Amino acid sequence: MDLQALLDDIASESAPFAAQGKVADYIPALAAVPATHFGIALATMDGGTYGSGDWRMPFSIQSVSKAFSLALVLARDGEALWTRVGREPSGNPFNSLVQLEYEKGIPRNPFINAGALILIDRLLSLTGDSLGTLRDFLRAESGQAAVDLDAEVAASEAAHGHRNAALAHFMASCGNLENPVERVLDHYFRQCSLRMSCADLAKAGLFLANHGLRADGSRLLSRSEAKRINSIMLTCGTYDAAGDFAYRVGLPGKSGVGGGILAVLPERGVLCVWSPALDRHGNSVAGVEALDRFTTRTGWSVF
Ligand code: GLU
Repeated sequence: MDLQALLDDIASESAPFAAQGKVADYIPALAAVPATHFGIALATMDGGTYGSGDWRMPFSIQSVSKAFSLALVLARDGEALWTRVGREPSGNPFNSLVQLEYEKGIPRNPFINAGALILIDRLLSLTGDSLGTLRDFLRAESGQAAVDLDAEVAASEAAHGHRNAALAHFMASCGNLENPVERVLDHYFRQCSLRMSCADLAKAGLFLANHGLRADGSRLLSRSEAKRINSIMLTCGTYDAAGDFAYRVGLPGKSGVGGGILAVLPERGVLCVWSPALDRHGNSVAGVEALDRFTTRTGWSVF
């Protein structure tokens, strides 16, 4: 299969779908990103990297980072993590407050904002520096030493982060936070502001396609843990549209409100798409379209 020609076709067919979406504006620094960017990259298990469009341009990875935090925490905590956070789809917006009260401060899953705050809380307790641990990991796996945060986006998130603060304070009131709320939020906002390109992210995610083995051959996760993370990405990785994403794309995926989506092709590689215009759930419209076209054309879904 001519993967380069395929990605070029998919990029030109999918990019116009951005006109149906809207760039996130609840974080003002994100609203300034032009909706016309489109990138797609595929990193394969044999070391190949293919891309089309703006695939080398760094963007705000936002919640795509949560797939990596989950891997780093599960690798250390194992099953004990599930006393702190659930693993069921929420069916609610990613920043919703309602379920948290019914469920006594235990978030539905690690990918909604409340659950991601728990991951950061654990990584802070385990390593003393959640953001630094994640950034080092992303640099090592992508081979891109320049991976870093965007201070302007982080400040914008902090200034408009009232909902995340509410989630963190509520969980603290239920005794489900080990570190001070302000510290957890600071690491959360800065984590969301990390900038990476589609190529960097696709390479960084290869351990998820490779049963938990890192780029240097060392093991981060057992085969079973890698399977479990992919399963949670499939059921919870694309907000309250995870069912529709599974229906259309048929791959584990994690999206972010910067317009990026990481999708895992087990034993084949990792795809990353970026187009900043989002649907009402927070997923990139052209990004989902591109992934749908990719698995439809190749047959490389998990089903
Ligand atoms: N920083 C964003 C927030 O907390 C992340 C949301 C996302 O990408 O899902 O609202």
